[in-house]
Amino acid sequence: MNDIREVEVVVVGAGQAGLSSAYHLRRTGFEPERDFVVLDHSPAPGGAWQFRWPSLTYGVVHGMHALPGMELTGADPARPSSEVIGGYFDRYERAFDLRVRRPVDVRAVRPGEGGRLLVETSDGVWSTRALINATGTWDRPFWPRYPGQETFLGRQLHTAGYRGPEEFAGLRVVVVGGGASGTQHLLELAPYAAATTWVTRRPPVFREGPFDESLGRAAVALVEERVRQGLPPRSVVSVTGLPLNDAIRRGLADGVLDRRPMFDRVTPDGVAWADGTRVRADVILWATGFRAVIDHLAPLRLREPGGGIRVEGTRAVADPRVHLVGYGPSASTIGANRAGRAAVRDIRRLLAEEPLAPAAV
Ligand SMILES: Cc1cc2nc3c(=O)[nH]c(=O)nc-3n(C[C@H](O)[C@H](O)[C@H](O)COP(=O)(O)OP(=O)(O)OC[C@H]3O[C@@H](n4cnc5c(N)ncnc54)[C@H](O)[C@@H]3O)c2cc1C
Repeated sequence: MNDIREVEVVVVGAGQAGLSSAYHLRRTGFEPERDFVVLDHSPAPGGAWQFRWPSLTYGVVHGMHALPGMELTGADPARPSSEVIGGYFDRYERAFDLRVRRPVDVRAVRPGEGGRLLVETSDGVWSTRALINATGTWDRPFWPRYPGQETFLGRQLHTAGYRGPEEFAGLRVVVVGGGASGTQHLLELAPYAAATTWVTRRPPVFREGPFDESLGRAAVALVEERVRQGLPPRSVVSVTGLPLNDAIRRGLADGVLDRRPMFDRVTPDGVAWADGTRVRADVILWATGFRAVIDHLAPLRLREPGGGIRVEGTRAVADPRVHLVGYGPSASTIGANRAGRAAVRDIRRLLAEEPLAPAAV
């Protein structure tokens, strides 16, 4: 085995949440490589943004909040957000000398000796006093199960594998899911596909007017409450509703966003409802969201019976050395920024209170 390297803090993930945390570590005197490391298994800067489909332009993403200490200015709204944000994160990492190590895959975090945590990776083991987990959700697309799904003769894909509408030209597409991705897919696909069908579990709720602070606070409070109870976080759209913008209004008016209830089963050539209705399809596109990437934390046994990790602020209730940033209530670009600062403040207090135990490794 490689030598075990010792640091004070390991940050896992270099998306908005991880970079914000690294920035605050740096600002409060932690030296990269000596006191902390940032590990990320993606090939390039940008967090999950680097994998998003090219037609998700910067003009389409709404409410992308800048990282602390450096604005994102003058970005061309017509450019893919993957390029814009990838470039911005790259400049950011250099400007603050964050020295992200990539690609490094964190496979497991387990209790070590002397009150430390051992972080096992594709590039050896780190021993650390605290951990900031900022691994997002992109690597864990959620596919619901429906009877007959395995018999479908067409193509099934998830939002995570969507690369734009062109490849669906002339095909009949069923889009599943009532979130922002589902509606964006439908609006993009409609001019290309032979037919589109939209199905969602619950009738979508459209929100008139701007997404102001009080709405944001209310949404965060609801997700926070779930996480405090140890339940898995809900998606933000389930709490905020879909913004009724011009594109959505057009989609509603011309029938592209004519929603049907969820089908009951998948058939070899399409989908079917219990009342005998059927829709033939060549493609089922599952825009059914993502779940938190936390499996590598399993050896720490942080999960509650409800399936989530209980956190107070960003701190795991079951282990104060572990912070989850970008999880639950902080799973937005603005939330991740604030949470990074809060996690670092809390970790500084923890490290100051607890005398450094001799590292017995
Ligand atoms: C299609 C889409 C559009 C969105 N649009 C918006 C928007 O307009 N505004 C907004 O505020 N939010 C938006 N969001 C939510 C947005 O993604 C988050 O707010 C934010 O970007 C997430 O940042 P993050 O740092 O938590 O996660 P990520 O950006 O996912 O970063 C996590 C990083 O962790 C790394 N990682 C994961 N597991 C491991 C591991 N085991 N070992 C090492 N590295 C690992 C990944 O490689 C990745 O780089 C959108 C989400 C989606 C899916």
